[in-house]
Amino acid sequence: MRRVYLDNAATTAVDGDVLAAMLPYFANYFGNAASLHSFGQDARQAVEEARQQIASFIGARAEEIIFTGGGTESDNLALRGVASALRTRGNHIITSSIEHHAVSETCAFLEREGYRVTYLPVDQYGLVDPAAIKGAICNETIIISIMHANNEVGTIQPLAEIGLIARERGICFHTDAVQTLGHIPLKVNDLNVDLLSASAHKLYGPKGVGILYVRKGTRIDPIMHGGEQERKKRPSTHNVPCIVGFGRAVQLASERMAYDIEVVTGLRNRFIKEITEKIDNCRLNGHPSQRLPNNANISIEYVEGESLVLSLDMEGIACSTGSACSSTSLEPSHVLLAIGCPRELAHGSLRFSLGRQTTAADIDYVLDILPAIVTRLRRMSPLYKKELR
Ligand code: PLP
Repeated sequence: MRRVYLDNAATTAVDGDVLAAMLPYFANYFGNAASLHSFGQDARQAVEEARQQIASFIGARAEEIIFTGGGTESDNLALRGVASALRTRGNHIITSSIEHHAVSETCAFLEREGYRVTYLPVDQYGLVDPAAIKGAICNETIIISIMHANNEVGTIQPLAEIGLIARERGICFHTDAVQTLGHIPLKVNDLNVDLLSASAHKLYGPKGVGILYVRKGTRIDPIMHGGEQERKKRPSTHNVPCIVGFGRAVQLASERMAYDIEVVTGLRNRFIKEITEKIDNCRLNGHPSQRLPNNANISIEYVEGESLVLSLDMEGIACSTGSACSSTSLEPSHVLLAIGCPRELAHGSLRFSLGRQTTAADIDYVLDILPAIVTRLRRMSPLYKKELR
């Protein structure tokens, strides 16, 4: 059976070059990067090379990069670290209503710790209004956290503008760039950010390694306590193979991002155009143009997202439900609800996220299979029969 992977926003396959770069660091160069002997120094050198590669890619200095255990940890470190360091200055945090749970649940935790959080609404495309941020700032505001691009609907936020507002008021500005690093151009100085989270497994690197960029001069406390690694901001023995893989993944992204953007955008646009033509009562979620090149989030009326995902899986196609329904929750996605998508539609939403490996033949295959699945499922939908018969 043909297999088509269109869930690259969930995770990507490790690139062959990345894997090759990592392998020597499991058994040959296995030293602890904190050790003084040559085994340790070999590992240390590899870590510092990766740090430099990543720093250059985002226009930062090497010493502004902290390696972490992934995007979730980076988001936690940014918010909790700044909240703790600036506790005496204020207790107010501003964020959006469509953040990833790594940010929103951290904010909820901080609320329980006595901080006050403003969750700003977004418009129908998922955009945060910079004027609303300006209006929400008060003397107590210590950090603003707005994601670079949304993981579900792909909308890219006007970070540069928001960053200027934060800077004018002397407020720390964090962004969750887990979905954008390596996918769209990203320079910390162009975006006016002070803190930025990213994760290797979204750009063809390994799982379990991330970075937090911390602009020089930003006050931040560690959230874990232990050794002196990462300038005491993130203790624990370095995950050398994964850090090396992250560096190589970023290097590959710098070489091929422009090409990938062009090819993937072309395939994605054709997919959106044809699927919305082939399936009636089907619409695109998110911004029509200000969106991640690889993201197509669509709502299909009168069908359940879960049934669609499972039916597509039986045909070898992998995508995810636009609604973040899990086995423990039947609530539709907070992101789709925030952009005003009605509950029934949110339940029938799918996120397709293309990747470097996606071909025109893959897209043709999905364009062929999906409409037939929708027709079959709708035949079983009493609502569809009633309203459209
Ligand atoms: N933030 C965003 C926007 C994400 O999409 C993800 C992962 O899906 C994360 C944070 C969490 O990253 P990680 O899986 O590396 O912890």
